[in-house]
Amino acid sequence: MHGRIAPANAEWIAEAGHLIRSGALVAFPTETVYGLGADATNGEAVARVFDAKGRPSFNPLIVHVLGLEAAEIIGSFSPMARRLADAFWPGPLTLVVPRRDATGVSDLVSAGLSTIALRAPNHPIARALLDAAQRPIAAPSANRSGHVSATRAEHVASDLGDKAAVILDGGPTAHGLESTVLSLTGEAPLLLRPGAVHAEAIEKIIGAELARRKAGGGIVTSPGQLQSHYAPRAQLRLNSPTWRPDEAVLAFGAIAISPARAIINLSSSGDLVEAAANLFAALRELDASGAETIAVTPVPTHGLGEAINDRLERAAAPRG
Ligand code: AMP
Ligand code: MG
Repeated sequence: MHGRIAPANAEWIAEAGHLIRSGALVAFPTETVYGLGADATNGEAVARVFDAKGRPSFNPLIVHVLGLEAAEIIGSFSPMARRLADAFWPGPLTLVVPRRDATGVSDLVSAGLSTIALRAPNHPIARALLDAAQRPIAAPSANRSGHVSATRAEHVASDLGDKAAVILDGGPTAHGLESTVLSLTGEAPLLLRPGAVHAEAIEKIIGAELARRKAGGGIVTSPGQLQSHYAPRAQLRLNSPTWRPDEAVLAFGAIAISPARAIINLSSSGDLVEAAANLFAALRELDASGAETIAVTPVPTHGLGEAINDRLERAAAPRG
């Protein structure tokens, strides 16, 4: 069954809903492109999305929900954000809003940011899947990192192989263009990525000209680009197999225990998926221990280890 393209009938949508709830990945059509979906509340499922895409770094994923009611459980909507959701949802507009605390959504979904990207898709198969899963679904485009977005089930199958437990076939997608990403976390709405909803249509709703990100294609990944990116207060000491008793320790795999202020093992069995799922919460918790420095034991650089090391290096970099 793994990696198979399935007809999006009632039986397969119900099965796909079960698969999402069990932590598996499901590829599904939206009105923009195919998405590779995981239960947003399951950190390991979300880590498998990054693994499947082969992304060298953790960039934030869009969380798909049925509508504003479900979105407001996860994110905080200003009156302007509500007005935009009312005007364009369900549809290809992604709204980036402040995250609420303790919603159960994995912090890996938003790559440790204090904001979250939410969208209510308008595609009947995407909506049926959300309804069957009864979970918010984190889903980037269903393609390998650096490849073009998939607009047909066959493209997903050839690009991702058996990484998705099932690919729901909805034929070619309508827009082929990704969702418009709009940030509502600053003073004025900010266009982060142009997409299927045109800026002019948004400007009609907000009654003003839309501010745009100046450089590049709109992928916000580096902490420097976003002030709300989580940076630990403590200094990180990377690739350090040993530590001092006053240090906090972020460990990976089998380690010899010696006294420390606090120790969290990302995965004592050496599982990179488990480690990725635990990374952001562990950094926060060790930072809260009050230690001046956090010693980080070596994390392998293959597979998801590349993205984990990338994030650790960013956290260790000097800040101005
Ligand atoms: P994709 O993974 O291809 O669906 O693209 C997701 C887009 O949403 C990327 O451009 C991300 O940078 C953007 N995005 C997701 N979450 C956030 C966030 N919290 N803040 C800013 N941009 C985000
Ligand atoms: Mg993409």
